[in-house]
Amino acid sequence: MERFVDFSVVVPLYNEEENVQLLYEEIHGVLKGMDARSEIVFVDDGSRDSTLARLETIQQQDAGVKVVSLRRNFGQTAAMSAGFDHAGGAVIITMDGDLQNDPHDIPKLLAKLDEGYDVVTGWRFDRQDALLSRKLPSMMANRLISWVTGVSLHDYGCTLKAFRREVIENINLYGEMHRFIPAIASGMGISFTEIKVNHRARRFGTSKYGISRTIRVVLDLMTVKFLLSYATRPLHVFGTVGIFSSLAGFLLALILVIQRQFFGVALADRPLLLLAVLLIFLGIQFITIGLLAELVVRTYHESQKKPIYYVRKVLGAPPTTPVSALADRQPE
Ligand code: UDP
Ligand code: MG
Repeated sequence: MERFVDFSVVVPLYNEEENVQLLYEEIHGVLKGMDARSEIVFVDDGSRDSTLARLETIQQQDAGVKVVSLRRNFGQTAAMSAGFDHAGGAVIITMDGDLQNDPHDIPKLLAKLDEGYDVVTGWRFDRQDALLSRKLPSMMANRLISWVTGVSLHDYGCTLKAFRREVIENINLYGEMHRFIPAIASGMGISFTEIKVNHRARRFGTSKYGISRTIRVVLDLMTVKFLLSYATRPLHVFGTVGIFSSLAGFLLALILVIQRQFFGVALADRPLLLLAVLLIFLGIQFITIGLLAELVVRTYHESQKKPIYYVRKVLGAPPTTPVSALADRQPE
């Protein structure tokens, strides 16, 4: 795959036939005016309308356009992932294919990245979407995600973002996790910032999501939080809960036993006994799940040779130089 473009613009599209041509013209217009080599990677996410046909026509006329056509609809995250795999740029820019993001923000994102950041995300400060079904849930989600992940951004949902290639290469995306790339990447120790970007109302086609997305985002957030904080030490989470639960159960049981033995209080009609047994059982369960998770995590990291750390750079002799070669070297 070529690696000689400076940046790639990756756009997922699902049933966006009315937007394709306008979108291409607008992005192309912006890229043409820039002093950098670039490409556009359109990913057709199994559209059922003429999106793919229109993309093919565009591709035939412009060699700077790549079209990746997925066999069926895999969802926005998968489509973006496919785009990343086919993008050759040292920087990758993502945006929506419905013209809601403004390509004229691309130079601004790149300029910000040049200041030394690894990720620059867009903030739709004047978002043009429905208030109740979109902006409100989104506002709450952003607060929650910022609080839970410790990565404070105003707008996680904005697809318009710029990433250095290394960030993308070290991340595998599942579910609907594209919005969490900055949070996941923060675990690698990357630097990020946000800038205000333009946002426009959807003119053609319809949104692919409803309010049900909120639940999926919350569930994905749990996964991200777990991966971020405990992926290499699951027993610390499960074990802590387990120990507290068992301990509480044990203490309750102890009280009950003392009351029974020394004060003659009957045991049979006391719900507390049930609670004590439940807590002890739960505690043992939690600890066992934690131990199993430790095994799973080891398999996960070791089978895929996934590092548990990320190196920024190494100073000094390259690690591949054998010690003997250093010893043989004659001083000049
Ligand atoms: N999209 C996609 N696959 C899907 C759903 C959406 O590629 O299964 C694309 C869609 O074509 C658009 C972008 O993802 O380019 C964002 O979708 P949408 O505009 O519907 O989301 P919203 O802006 O309403 O949050
Ligand atoms: Mg949209």
